[in-house]
Amino acid sequence: MKLYNTLSRKIEEFIPQDPNLVKLYACGPTVYDFTHIGHVRKYTMDDVLVRTLRHAGYDVKFVRNITDVGHLASDSDTGEDKLEKGAKKYGSSVWDIAQKFEDYFHQSMDTIGNVRPNITSKVTEHIQNQLDLVKKLEEKGFTYVIPEDGVYFDTSKFPRYGELAKLNKEGMKDGARVDVVAGKRNPTDFALWKFERAGENRAMAWESPWHPRSFPGWHIECSAISMEHLGEQIDLHTGGIDHIPVHHTNEIAQSEAATGKSPFVKYWVHHNFLFIEGKKMSKSLNNFFTLEDLAKKEYDPMAFRLLLLTAHYRSEMNFTWDNMEGSQVAWEKLMDKVQFLLKEKEAISNLEIEKSIRQTVEESEGIESEKVVSLKKRFFDAMENDLSTPEAIAVMWEMLGSDLRADQKYSLLLNFDEVLGLGLARIELKQQEIIPESVEDLVDQRQVARDNKDWQLADDLRSRINDLGYEIIDHAVIGQELIKK
Ligand code: AMP
Ligand code: ZN
Repeated sequence: MKLYNTLSRKIEEFIPQDPNLVKLYACGPTVYDFTHIGHVRKYTMDDVLVRTLRHAGYDVKFVRNITDVGHLASDSDTGEDKLEKGAKKYGSSVWDIAQKFEDYFHQSMDTIGNVRPNITSKVTEHIQNQLDLVKKLEEKGFTYVIPEDGVYFDTSKFPRYGELAKLNKEGMKDGARVDVVAGKRNPTDFALWKFERAGENRAMAWESPWHPRSFPGWHIECSAISMEHLGEQIDLHTGGIDHIPVHHTNEIAQSEAATGKSPFVKYWVHHNFLFIEGKKMSKSLNNFFTLEDLAKKEYDPMAFRLLLLTAHYRSEMNFTWDNMEGSQVAWEKLMDKVQFLLKEKEAISNLEIEKSIRQTVEESEGIESEKVVSLKKRFFDAMENDLSTPEAIAVMWEMLGSDLRADQKYSLLLNFDEVLGLGLARIELKQQEIIPESVEDLVDQRQVARDNKDWQLADDLRSRINDLGYEIIDHAVIGQELIKK
């Protein structure tokens, strides 16, 4: 397995610390508003990563947090609390807002077919772990307090600060990445723990050694939760590319400073953004769509998943209604293919099938299996090469269009789908409906015409059948098949 590691800016061979267990942490959503299709892109590609690792034989322990405590809207530890903002917008309590949007997030993940992590952790249920980590950093001399503001991490005490983001002197200057905050010793210092301001009366506040009403800063949660469930050093950590310069840079600093161990994360995987009609989609810009919005326009969530898979996770992706429409058509084509394969597969396994046909099938098996092996190799090589989903999807279509037998195609498709996650194994053969005798008659007559090689008559009969609302498909093995239009 090869993965692009943001730390080295290179595609590297993936070698976990423990050859049998991959420890993976994904930054979870801030649950103050609806999960949009940009989030869905990020978490679907996490899902594809986990599926690919598992398929490659690794046992993966996958942990994701739920940010249900208010982060301040800016990366500078200032601005409005996001959850309080959500509570105001929807007229309910912060706790209710967090629960409502956490539920919505899980529903969206289920709808798009993402496997749930082994552990999902709410930040509010890990307050003590976070406090302990800040205390540890304080004991080791990495912190200082800005009165009436918070406990800050002193980045000058951590010489490797900024390596992930390749921050140069310019990037570390006042105001370059984060706004200037009065009292900070260095422009890159960040809040580990924040204090309620005088007269603020926050809905979520906890007692801490530094302040009776205080709350975690927005980076400490991921270090604390990851250490709690996965230990001090992990293999993989994912997040959106927006997290590189501040959030993940700070996670590394506080984690490695606290444990004295490096690296905190061996491979950093960052997902690129989904844009909508060329614009950045975000909750704050209010130009976002949910999976429900797609469903209202009669787009299948799996057609959206298929669309996501056609773009590489490190490329920007531009969502347009035209490409959504195109993907819906492709999805329907895939569904038709699955129905077709199920029917042919059933016919092949049917004992009634003529012996001669069975013999041809058996004879061709030896040659075809080489093709099966080669398609499988190309598909999984693409997936294991930094999750090259566009290439893998192209191999899938090529395989479906090949001259492999239906049962071979079907089992390859399900094999591919273990990592694609389109839910194809759940699709069942549609029940045949009762066909009027007049139509059956025409089908029989067409078969006779075909046997007599009277193609003109066969075509005429096909159009008469069409006029009666049915369509004929000519299968290689089972012959004619009738479908209601
Ligand atoms: P948030 O809830 O805003 O913290 O976002 C949760 C995750 O979704 C983060 O890893 C973000 O980087 C990612 N994300 C947010 N908006 C988008 C988008 N438009 N496209 C792709 N990923 C996004
Ligand atoms: Zn995080």
